[in-house]
Amino acid sequence: MIQSFPTEGVLRQEMIRVCQRLYQKNFVSASDGNLSARLSPNRLLITPSGFNKGDLQERWLLMVDMDGKLIRGSHGPRGEELKLTSELRMHLEVYRQRSDVNAVAHAHPPIATGFSLAGVSLSGCLLPEVVYTLGAIPTAAFAAPTTQEVPDSVRDLIRTFDALVLDRHGALTVGKDLWDAYYKLEKLEHTAQVMLTAYQLGGVREMTADQRRKVVEVGSALGIREEAMAVCKIDSSGRASCAIGKGSGDGTKGASCSSCSSGNQDNAGTKSSRDLVRKIIMQEIGMS
Ligand SMILES: [Zn+2]
Repeated sequence: MIQSFPTEGVLRQEMIRVCQRLYQKNFVSASDGNLSARLSPNRLLITPSGFNKGDLQERWLLMVDMDGKLIRGSHGPRGEELKLTSELRMHLEVYRQRSDVNAVAHAHPPIATGFSLAGVSLSGCLLPEVVYTLGAIPTAAFAAPTTQEVPDSVRDLIRTFDALVLDRHGALTVGKDLWDAYYKLEKLEHTAQVMLTAYQLGGVREMTADQRRKVVEVGSALGIREEAMAVCKIDSSGRASCAIGKGSGDGTKGASCSSCSSGNQDNAGTKSSRDLVRKIIMQEIGMS
């Protein structure tokens, strides 16, 4: 099937609207974050470095090819030449891995990023609608900003998942268009907010084996990808899956792991992460 792309004018307008939404929703501060979208299979429009997303102008967006070469530059409000973002390599890596992806969003949503600092993964079988829309939300391994480590850290996970937490950094989502990528980011941060609320109220209740079975059954009937639902699967002995993403070396612990097999080191880590989150919250609200 031949894919059609929006015109450059339409894409510039859409990108500015999504940038403004990112800022309004507090997913970025100062000059954080970046957005990109395909203009064609081999051309991207991307936000420049160094600007608040709420202030960007359509004419400041830059055009690059898939090797990251600047095709069309621009000048900022003081006539300065605009620079490409240091995160461009991460965007290019995503497009290389996913021909189905037409837009990439990177931001620093505070609650999801806070979860990575606390070492608590968002990747659990907790909210069926999140499983059906995002699948698991793994955490990519820590990578020093601006280095080649950043694209390396997302390469494997982004092949399967549309929404990632970047350890001690932020989040990355992809979509069939800019709004699709944006809404996945919104969903990721909302999931973190719901989980934080549950922690504040005493903890995250896990799904029973029967509930997991039903989630997978309904998901299969809805045509949800198997990989997306892997986090809800139970094995033949009735044990639940643990969080995805730990293998990447990030050290995060799945919030839904405590029902996993005994001897799983994640259990202790998860409990200590939960205790830590609770302790911090209790301190903040002056109850300890
Ligand atoms: Zn960033």
